[in-house]
Amino acid sequence: GPALLFVKTSQGKEEGRRFYACSACRDRKDCNFFQWEDEKVSETRLAAREEYNRNHQPSLTHRQNVDRYKNFVLLPLSKRRFCQECQQLLLPAEWEKHSDHQFLCGITTAQLKSPSQLLYPLENKKTNAQYLFADRSCQFLLNLLIDLGFRRVLSVGTPRLHEMIQSKASQEEFSVRSLLLDIDFRYSQFYTEDEFCHYNMFNHHFFGGEAARETCRKFLCEENGERVIMVTDPPFGGLVEALASSFKKLMAMWREAEKEGRDNKEMPIFWIFPYFFESRILDFFPSFSMMDYQVDYDNHALYKHGKTGRRQSPVRIFTNLTPSMIVLPEEEGYRFCTVCQRYISSGNQHCEICNSCTSKDGRRWKHCVLCKKCVKPSWFHCNNCNCCTLQKHSCEKTEVGCFVCGKAGHKRSACPSLSRS
Ligand code: SAH
Ligand code: ZN
Ligand code: ZN
Ligand code: ZN
Ligand code: ZN
Repeated sequence: GPALLFVKTSQGKEEGRRFYACSACRDRKDCNFFQWEDEKVSETRLAAREEYNRNHQPSLTHRQNVDRYKNFVLLPLSKRRFCQECQQLLLPAEWEKHSDHQFLCGITTAQLKSPSQLLYPLENKKTNAQYLFADRSCQFLLNLLIDLGFRRVLSVGTPRLHEMIQSKASQEEFSVRSLLLDIDFRYSQFYTEDEFCHYNMFNHHFFGGEAARETCRKFLCEENGERVIMVTDPPFGGLVEALASSFKKLMAMWREAEKEGRDNKEMPIFWIFPYFFESRILDFFPSFSMMDYQVDYDNHALYKHGKTGRRQSPVRIFTNLTPSMIVLPEEEGYRFCTVCQRYISSGNQHCEICNSCTSKDGRRWKHCVLCKKCVKPSWFHCNNCNCCTLQKHSCEKTEVGCFVCGKAGHKRSACPSLSRS
């Protein structure tokens, strides 16, 4: 899909040079597309690019994959193979071609219903950054949205949540439906065009064209009072600005899907992201608030929940729903603050001066009268720097500040003045 327009800035310069680069890959090694905004591209280069793109399309279309799946489930267990190298379900005629590849045999229906367990996670930090929810967190999210009355989930980059919903939906008395939007095309082997759209959340691009866009639009129509919520868990290295722009387009789709009664309403959203992006997210979505719930992952050693371990997940839920409605599990130590009217983590203490529960990381924070705010327990007030910071720091360093606006506290990549221009 479309590239994004970036700006190269150098210290002290007001205006940087603008260029286009790939929206999905944040590493030039994964995609080396680069073009200055004002660059003239020759016919030969354009042709070479098109040629390159043609050669890098998936070998099978979504439709073909759906047909293959239908044939695959008709096979007896003994003939159901999954090639681990190609990450592909194999039909008997193809065994020969994959004969020197590692494969799994006897793929059960249960395995087909949990593709996120079958496929290996694409952990490449700069592109896919596939970190799967721990079962407990996934179950919590699902129960929460059911309790809130939602019956449809737009799962944007949340294959495991989608899969949990899909496999429950095949049981009786479970009326929740989900549509997965994800850039990982491997999922097209397991889901129909009504269950999965190949989608890029950094530029709101539907690879399946108008038909896929229509599938999404239809899904967002709330028939018979089936309320919709969008749940998203983007790669943490992703640009908040690009994500926010795509999410606003999905919200607009929702708003247009039904003309009546939605004039001032927003599509309900759970945006799962680390707490240190709070101010960035609020820049784009002032109606959002951050919940204290710590989201845990299976394949992320750092983000595993543990009462004894020091490692706590920094990942939170940002939502435009009323915070008091988001009930967090008491058995995990969360409790309700009647002043703030929201559930908070056990270590979070209501600060009388800030008049809010100020901890972001679950530890008890302390109030600094000079900074006029609560800070991390490990920080102290440095009179040199005129702010609270770690005991061990070199005072000069903090003076450098941001290259763009000169202010301390953020790097140029996160400079708020850039996002506004
Ligand atoms: N915790 C989630 C997975 C989050 S990992 C779960 O367990 O369901 C991030 C997800 O976003 C992955 O599924 C990845 O394939 C997807 N993703 C990464 N880049 C994307 C992009 N540009 N557009 C859409 N999805 C993307
Ligand atoms: Zn409080
Ligand atoms: Zn305080
Ligand atoms: Zn201070
Ligand atoms: Zn200092």
